[in-house]
Amino acid sequence: MNYILLGPPGAGKGTQAKLIVDEFKILHLSTGDMFREAKKSDPVIKEYLSSGHLVPDEIVIDMVVKRLEKDDVQKGFLLDGFPRTVHQAQELDKILQEKHKKIAAVFSIQIDNHEAVRRISGRRVCVCGASFHVSMLAPKKENICDYCGKDLLHRSDDKEDVVRERLSVYETQTKPLIDYYKKSGILVEIDGHGNEKKVFEQIKKSINE
Ligand SMILES: [Zn+2]
Repeated sequence: MNYILLGPPGAGKGTQAKLIVDEFKILHLSTGDMFREAKKSDPVIKEYLSSGHLVPDEIVIDMVVKRLEKDDVQKGFLLDGFPRTVHQAQELDKILQEKHKKIAAVFSIQIDNHEAVRRISGRRVCVCGASFHVSMLAPKKENICDYCGKDLLHRSDDKEDVVRERLSVYETQTKPLIDYYKKSGILVEIDGHGNEKKVFEQIKKSINE
């Protein structure tokens, strides 16, 4: 079976994606991973990514279409990071129809802005790769890495005003997409509050039904 995963920053989408593909033995088709891969060999994509501009719909769609042509998608897949717009969703429907495939469900993980801000703005990271959270996963000594003793950093992307901006962009972009899938009757709303296990239980239940 094939699925789509949607969720705002801080919803735990990455964690859930991993749990889903491990449990159901399907492919994780993440456009983030595809971009990182494509960047190595495609100068056009590299240019878009390094300039910080949004990669145009047509390029993204083309990349996903090519990926869906590989044989391994037969075992089922989870799309993550795509579609982002209604146009992309319509193109995806066309491609899948040609291949006699369909999306069984679109999981939309929802959390309120207050919780998203709390989760993200509390993150602290270390140059060694470790990450902490001021209340949910606090280091033993305030602002000091447990592993290497260096000072922890608060990434600018994780600061409250930036998080609020990212959430508002997500909401504006994704609302029409959510309505689109609601109309097609395949949208499954997932309550993203609570721990990852509790969130995954809802997804698992929906897939097993
Ligand atoms: Zn460290």
